[in-house]
Amino acid sequence: MSITTYLIVFGSGLIAGMLILFITHKVSSGDSFHLVGGIGRLFSMVVGIVRRTSEVEDTQEVHAAEVLLSVDPREQKLYESAQAIRNMLLILAANIQRTNKAALESSVVLGDVKSAIDTMDLPTDLREAHSLLMKEIDRVISSNTELKNELSKSQTVLSEQQQQIEDLRTAVRIDGLTQIANRAYFDEKLNEMISLRKRYSDPFSLMIIDIDNFKAVNDTYGHPAGDRILKGVSLKLKASLRGSDFLARFGGDEFIIILIKTDVIAATEVAWKLSEEVRASRFLLDNSSLFLTLSIGVAEARADDTDESLLKRADAALYRTKLGGRNGVSADGV
Ligand code: GH3
Ligand code: MG
Repeated sequence: MSITTYLIVFGSGLIAGMLILFITHKVSSGDSFHLVGGIGRLFSMVVGIVRRTSEVEDTQEVHAAEVLLSVDPREQKLYESAQAIRNMLLILAANIQRTNKAALESSVVLGDVKSAIDTMDLPTDLREAHSLLMKEIDRVISSNTELKNELSKSQTVLSEQQQQIEDLRTAVRIDGLTQIANRAYFDEKLNEMISLRKRYSDPFSLMIIDIDNFKAVNDTYGHPAGDRILKGVSLKLKASLRGSDFLARFGGDEFIIILIKTDVIAATEVAWKLSEEVRASRFLLDNSSLFLTLSIGVAEARADDTDESLLKRADAALYRTKLGGRNGVSADGV
């Protein structure tokens, strides 16, 4: 091999080594090594929001019945924050994977360069440059290994926190008392169903259920007993529905059900079945038991419905049941 070839090989090796050193230095002094702390801070933000939300909820518990009938803006905000942070974490995960791949590839290339140079028969005046280059390559390979270890630690932290955010997402969608879907989750589901209904002709129906004279239950047996009755009613409804039906607490003593692939005739039959099952049930309290009745309104979604228009028609049907003396079912347009 000629001296010019040696020089070209050394020159390329030196430039490659310096480039990789430069990248490694940037990565180690930059944000990548602070990923764990960064993700931790992001996560603390979410937990902070959750804590603040539940503190506000505690102080406002007394007014829960009045507030629950509208969408809770705090729950909505919390849900949106969790979504935004989840998206940020997904971007971070992709970046970590890319950096990890680059570190791995540069180590492999440097290893190849090192063994190629090592096998060369060098003239004496190049021996010193050769040993310097070897040392430099070893240093870059070992700092790449450190970088890979750091990245792998960040990835573990990241996946744990992604899981916790998933758990938070589930938590903010569940009603604390009855453990069924809450109003925010219902709104999301209804929105999805309305969009699907515009594209496909599969029918679906909405059913609003209100417990009759529930105030009297609280007045007679106390609010904690009323809570237990609400849990009991939701369990009864859940047990009587198909797995594909979506049951949520609409607020106060109202429940709402989305019945997939169900027209208004079939939904009305389901409503009567639920009404009869609850009427036939004895709800047990510590020293007493009681019977309840339900008022129900049913409406089937139309292709031109919005969330509001469909809810309005189901609510109007419920109102007719109440006006007609409660304990029954009314269906929109039937
Ligand atoms: P109606 O037949 O017209 O529905 O009469 P109602 O007494 O059921 O009246 P309404 O539906 O207007 O009142 C609902 C009551 O439910 C008022 C409130 O005290 C009670 N309530 C709402 N949320 C809760 C709750 O989380 N726990 C308990 N125990 N009671 C609640
Ligand atoms: Mg009621």
